[in-house]
Amino acid sequence: MSKILTIGEILVEIIATERGNGFRAPVSLIGPFPSGAPAIFIDQVGKLGQDCAIISRVGDDDFGHLNVDRLRADNVDVSGIDIVPQGTTGSAFVRYREDGSRAFVFNIRHSACGTIELTGNAARLAEECTHLHVMGTSLYAPSVVDSILAAIRIIKSKGGTVSFDPNLRPEILNAPGMREALKAVIAQTDLFLPSGAELYLFTEATDEKDAVKELLATGIKAVVVKQGSVGATYFDQTRTLTSPGFAVEEVDPTGAGDCFGAAFVTFWLNGAEPEQALLYANACGARAVTKAGPMEGASTRAELDAFLVSQKV
Ligand code: ATP
Ligand code: MG
Repeated sequence: MSKILTIGEILVEIIATERGNGFRAPVSLIGPFPSGAPAIFIDQVGKLGQDCAIISRVGDDDFGHLNVDRLRADNVDVSGIDIVPQGTTGSAFVRYREDGSRAFVFNIRHSACGTIELTGNAARLAEECTHLHVMGTSLYAPSVVDSILAAIRIIKSKGGTVSFDPNLRPEILNAPGMREALKAVIAQTDLFLPSGAELYLFTEATDEKDAVKELLATGIKAVVVKQGSVGATYFDQTRTLTSPGFAVEEVDPTGAGDCFGAAFVTFWLNGAEPEQALLYANACGARAVTKAGPMEGASTRAELDAFLVSQKV
């Protein structure tokens, strides 16, 4: 049976409750919520009952323990999370502008997760797992990049697979070495999960069809473009499948892409047809936006089935 691994940041998210106001004056906040794109992704994978693990580091503080406890409760193997006695757990403050777009203040550069190394339990997990999911946000620190690239080599050498969600945040795109690291990961990717303009990140193409063709010609097996409330489109060498989004009330969009990706990768790895993987991934992304907090809207398989019945699918 396959075991899904991810490597990267664990942090907490603190959310401004009102739209429009900046952080230059006091605002009301909710949180801390467990967060970090790889953590949200793997929590959703675990909730679906799929064997999975995360390699990360947190400080020995409430923010770190909040995350480890949640991931463990949701069936994630947390043996690869080092609790660093003198370290701190990062945080992200997020606020929503009037138009619904998000602005982040990240405090992760000096947090424990920037020192991840592929040693000890982390090295064992890289040997044990058969699939690695990479989040672009994790490529901000050299030791995390090195660990991810080393894990890719180990997993690929055993015939395993790699999925990649660029998950770009303009706030960290210019971290030293980030662009080179993104290129190194895409070169090893089997399943590519961009959102909107991220489709064009690695090609010269300006329309969707050409961009997808170029990507598939490099050896990528499938591309799944996430389109927010519109839904998602799947492409491989022979098929283009579009699946509409579900009508839900959007409370907090953060985490939708991670939950979508988690469901898609889980179904795909377990041999589901892309139609079914898309359907469940759309359902998972839709449910994710209905709760405040990036991980709070993660779903079990039973919840997804009940949601699909309620949507008359
Ligand atoms: P993020 O990086 O913020 O987690 P993303 O940009 O990677 O998100 P989105 O396209 O925003 O990804 O969302 C992923 C998927 O979640 C969509 O393809 C869709 O299935 C679902 N989704 C997102 N927003 C909504 C919404 N408002 N209503 C219904 N479904 C949604
Ligand atoms: Mg995303």
